[in-house]
Amino acid sequence: MAEQATRGSSTINYKDGGMRDNKEYQTRLRQTLEAGEVELLSPEMLISSRDAEHPANLIPSLCEAFYKLGWVTGTGGGISIRKGALAYFAPSGVQKERIKPEDLFVLDLRLGTYLRYPLPLKPSQCTPLFHLSFMKRGAGACIHTHSQWAVLVTLLVEQELQQRTAKGGFATWDDRSMGGITDLTGAERSLSKKRWDATPGRDAVLHRPFRISRLEQIKGIPAGQKHTDGYIDDVDLSKIEPSRPGYLSYYDTLAIPIIENTAHEEDLSASLAAAIEMYPHSSAVLVKRHGVYVWGETWVKAKTVCESLDYIFQLAIEMRKLNAPWTED
Ligand SMILES: [Zn+2]
Repeated sequence: MAEQATRGSSTINYKDGGMRDNKEYQTRLRQTLEAGEVELLSPEMLISSRDAEHPANLIPSLCEAFYKLGWVTGTGGGISIRKGALAYFAPSGVQKERIKPEDLFVLDLRLGTYLRYPLPLKPSQCTPLFHLSFMKRGAGACIHTHSQWAVLVTLLVEQELQQRTAKGGFATWDDRSMGGITDLTGAERSLSKKRWDATPGRDAVLHRPFRISRLEQIKGIPAGQKHTDGYIDDVDLSKIEPSRPGYLSYYDTLAIPIIENTAHEEDLSASLAAAIEMYPHSSAVLVKRHGVYVWGETWVKAKTVCESLDYIFQLAIEMRKLNAPWTED
């Protein structure tokens, strides 16, 4: 029952059992005891808190709210919240509006080991994807929705891409004249060809992102992101500057990359990582015919961006019906 996620260039395993045999865990446990931190002695203590802002209490209440918004229908989608080096995940296949704190999984991001694994439940299939947002963006929370508006905008971009490709426009990533890496918000990082060629999952990133401008609501989207490119507990996030400060202005263009869907959610990891690499300012990645991943420094920021994007996606659908262009170019 092992899932995998990338940690830097190496691969780690999430272990559901055998913690007693794990030397790293034993060392950590001893250090924790010596330091007087007793939290790890009982996995149940990880989910027991009277604080309404504790991830164990927030995740059930937010999942219920997202269910009512139509974001996590049919047990798909969800949210993960990080508390220091511990990440809290919901289980897979559980009714989102009925999740309880005792259903939650707790992963130690330092060890790549589950400290709490409530059998017979299984962790959400989104786990490795949420993990990417923590490790690459230093996110404090990541939300995944199956919002119909998110799905529909990916269909419209796909349609647009097919039409443009038929006319000979940006059929490959080497044609970056429109919709490619360099034209997005005017400041996207241009990857070297060598690095680009070596990026796993790159072929599953659509050659064109969802782009929209001149909408008041895009002012709710951060202009840039922090890049940790490593291990969040070893990094002082307060000292890392975002790739662009502040939030998008009314005159900016919002660009959200889109990746191809896969048969299994966890198989999205490589393309999600590639999209994060290619769009360093983006706080979200759309998944074609599937939904969207959105992250933020805190759960409040992630939720605010997710709400703003959902509003923008819905508006974009209505705009397209009225033949109102998304951008001026
Ligand atoms: Zn999903």
